[in-house]
Amino acid sequence: MSVNKQFINGVWVDAVDGHEISLVNPATEEVLSRISFGNGKDAILAIDAADAAFKTWSKTTPYYRAEILKKAANYLRENLDKIAHDMVLESGKPLLEARGEWTVAANLFEWYAEEGKRAYGKVIPTNRVDKRSSVILQPMGVIGVITAWNFPAYNPARAWAAALAAGCTVVAKPSEDTPLSAYHLVNALSAAGLPPGVLNLVIAEASPVGDAMLHDKRVKKISFTGSTRVGKILMDGASRTHTKLSLELGGNAPVVIFDDVDVDEVAKAAAIARFRNNGQVCVAPQRFYIHKNIYDQFAESVKKYVSLLKVGSGFEEGVNVGPLITGKQRDSVFDLLEKTRIEKAEVLTGGHRPHHLDKGYFIQPAVVANLNQSSTLARHEIFGPVLPLFRFDDLEDALHKANDTEYGLAAYAFTNNLKTAIKVSEGLEFGIVGINEWAPHGTELPFGGWKYSGQGHESGSEGLYEYMEKKLISIGGI
Ligand code: ADP
Repeated sequence: MSVNKQFINGVWVDAVDGHEISLVNPATEEVLSRISFGNGKDAILAIDAADAAFKTWSKTTPYYRAEILKKAANYLRENLDKIAHDMVLESGKPLLEARGEWTVAANLFEWYAEEGKRAYGKVIPTNRVDKRSSVILQPMGVIGVITAWNFPAYNPARAWAAALAAGCTVVAKPSEDTPLSAYHLVNALSAAGLPPGVLNLVIAEASPVGDAMLHDKRVKKISFTGSTRVGKILMDGASRTHTKLSLELGGNAPVVIFDDVDVDEVAKAAAIARFRNNGQVCVAPQRFYIHKNIYDQFAESVKKYVSLLKVGSGFEEGVNVGPLITGKQRDSVFDLLEKTRIEKAEVLTGGHRPHHLDKGYFIQPAVVANLNQSSTLARHEIFGPVLPLFRFDDLEDALHKANDTEYGLAAYAFTNNLKTAIKVSEGLEFGIVGINEWAPHGTELPFGGWKYSGQGHESGSEGLYEYMEKKLISIGGI
């Protein structure tokens, strides 16, 4: 069985201490391959390489960098069949979703290739005739990028593309649960002519790598996509080391559905949106607040559509929902469901192992009713295939309940009333609000959370500026 390695200074190498782990297919529980698994020592080697490469990469023009990023985008498009296949193997997600994710990853490389050319800065008129002031943007330096497994290509691509376009070099630590997609991203950049050391990949023990990044003064920023729990650990460390952070953390998105909508249509779309990537999405619609006039009708409809979802291997034609990423993740969802049952909630459908599958980390998609604001399913980010239903009376009640969470990433609302749409979008305390749509994100749009959901932004021009320092230049005595 082949062993996948680390990528440091342009070369595939074994982890310093020679340790290996197995990569498991979540749909079959079979070992897919062996992974060279490093620790803090590998991270230091990667930082050495990234620091050395920064001296030349940061001096290249954005036009030069753009050519490489666009070639990488093309490589991903040309190899879509193979790389999407590998993503299904390691993540379990349906092939269609994997193909879509790779397409977005390619688009990110292309978009940042162009946006890097537009890091304009500005000239500021001063109040003195003998003075000229301007602000320029310069690449920060070495960026540590730590990412989660739920979007094995999108999460790294979003940060790598922006950082590389800005002129930074990268030490990347993706999740060891989904390294194959990271290898393909590295291969794409490598084939596109990225110079050695500009992008380094370390698949390794999380905490020692995080510590190495935090304590090494050459790492100017850590970009992290993952749980609020780990985000807090990094904030704690950064408070002592002064490392800058961009944090994309957890969410607990409310969906407010008013009584003027086509109930069956919204329920049908909700059953798809909620279970995209098996609910393992930080912007996943989670807490469904339904107006009291349509609650029963919505519950009936959504139960019908959710029970029609096809669960199985991501390779199977027509499958909507694959396995969860690990046995641990599946068990954490079962635990939440168990607590919910103890709280006297009513599971309308699903919530058990699918009867036709005896291997793999599957859960039959669930709809749960009879919940309130203190229910476990209202308080916790579920990250799994469960759709909880809540009731609200009016706009004020909906906003109060929707905002009653420590998270502030995404929120959704459905209404055909313009006034309601404006009031609800302005009243929701979240960084991303979708009105009458389930996908309020895109390569060109800023993505970031309020409250415990993070700090800073990814994607859009905001995502580029996260990796650039502003410098004021003031010239006097003119
Ligand atoms: P999950 O447990 O769902 O993978 P995490 O937030 O723990 O979510 O993981 C996101 C990423 O953060 C992964 O690459 C993981 O290995 C990494 N990670 C976990 N713990 C730490 C830590 N203490 N320091 C730095 N990175 C960490």
